[in-house]
Amino acid sequence: MKHIFPLFAFALAALVSCGGNNGEPVNVSVVPNPVSIEYGGRGLKMKQAGWIPAVRTSIDSGLAAEEYILDTRKGKVVIKGGSDAGVFWGMQTLYQILAQVENKGLDRIPGVLIKDKPAFSYRGAHLDCCRHFFSVEEVKTYIDMLALHKINVFHWHLTEDQGWRAEIKRYPKLTEIGSVRSETLVGHYGSDEYDGTPYGGFYTQDEMRDVVAYAAERFITVIPEIEMPGHASAALASYPELGCRGAGYPYKVQTTWGVFPEVFCAGNPETVTFLENVLDEICDIFPSEYIHIGGDEAPRDEWEKCPKCQALMKEKGFTREAELQSYLITTIEKYLAGKGRKIIGWDEILDGGVSQSATVMSWRGAKGGIEAAKMGNDVIMTPNSHFYLDYYQTGNPKENGEPLGIGGNLPLRKCYSFDPFDQLNDEEKAHIKGIQANMWTEYVATFDHVQHMTLPRLAALAEVAWSNDNRTDYDGFVDRIITGLMPIYNTRGYNYAGYAFKDIE
Ligand SMILES: [Zn+2]
Repeated sequence: MKHIFPLFAFALAALVSCGGNNGEPVNVSVVPNPVSIEYGGRGLKMKQAGWIPAVRTSIDSGLAAEEYILDTRKGKVVIKGGSDAGVFWGMQTLYQILAQVENKGLDRIPGVLIKDKPAFSYRGAHLDCCRHFFSVEEVKTYIDMLALHKINVFHWHLTEDQGWRAEIKRYPKLTEIGSVRSETLVGHYGSDEYDGTPYGGFYTQDEMRDVVAYAAERFITVIPEIEMPGHASAALASYPELGCRGAGYPYKVQTTWGVFPEVFCAGNPETVTFLENVLDEICDIFPSEYIHIGGDEAPRDEWEKCPKCQALMKEKGFTREAELQSYLITTIEKYLAGKGRKIIGWDEILDGGVSQSATVMSWRGAKGGIEAAKMGNDVIMTPNSHFYLDYYQTGNPKENGEPLGIGGNLPLRKCYSFDPFDQLNDEEKAHIKGIQANMWTEYVATFDHVQHMTLPRLAALAEVAWSNDNRTDYDGFVDRIITGLMPIYNTRGYNYAGYAFKDIE
């Protein structure tokens, strides 16, 4: 665990100072809510401003990998974890307690015995770096935000109609051409105003490796997403021969939002070769067990008219274009399986049939997830009804001064209310592997704005994903955010939505 301490020493020094407990019993607030907290013992007296308590860490093979026990009862801080990850999550809890000691002006760390483990092994947060681009430093800050909330998967959305963001050495035009759009829509979809300014950016392979390593130090897995067969405009602008309209058609990196008819040509064997070659490089950079292959919002109009697509359908005996999508996804799934990887796809991969080994990310409400679990597929629940963080946080965004969102009304209370097991029997429940929040950025152009949309709603995600069996009342949850997390948001300068704590209409 040597590498943990440099991360924490500085932050703790800034937080811990002296104060008086005045003999009053002190409760601690932790988000996500731990399995159990027992109070007792003398705790630790703070020695002086800036004093950093020694933390004794050890691995206890009797604990599950991410499980930990934090004990401050006997005048010292002891953290046992089932693995380094468990110890790390215990450190996050300690960090929240120390922030409270400082914030309340206490002179001692209360004596506690905290036993804790996550409800779900997959606790994810996504960031769309395509509609708007975020620097490596900003991505790392996002990863810090996830670690604080014990979120252990960063889903990195790297390819889109409006920009291809991942350097692929074999296909340099993906970033030379595909990473830049000529201009960007101003305001909401349907507006006819554009800013007239080229917009671009991409991550080099070294930068992506750096992000993967940074996340790994925080026990966070990075899952890259390479979209297919839809959301492919940027790729087709770079290599038009991979689209149904072929070379010569003026594909462009899109300047507005939405779903576009330009998709990869499923009937062209070169498309499969291209995708496999891209995934070779992606797998080389990202060691994650899962690779996200998109699969969403792929209109089939062009396939209906394309001779190559129709010829393949005839050859395979397909009667519906949905089967072409299924064929492409299955082909890629097999290819990745040969490299020891598994696929995750958005819930549209269910259309036309999908193999049972594919994991389905349910975004169109929980419906796709419920359907997939009933079919025996593993599921990550990321319903737009509860965890699309580009939605507004109140019902009257203008009156309440909210920054631009895509629409909707997704207050903190609603995120918190999500029941991942709704409508499922015990066998089906076992297929729900995790919960994720998605941060789409059509309308979110700066990282400050990303933080405003994600905080504090990320805390609700953490509570569902980590503490699902131990969720208490909503008001208590809000109190714990304000006491346990907000001092850290403030210390780190995170831009959170303060009004989200109040139930404003
Ligand atoms: Zn085609």
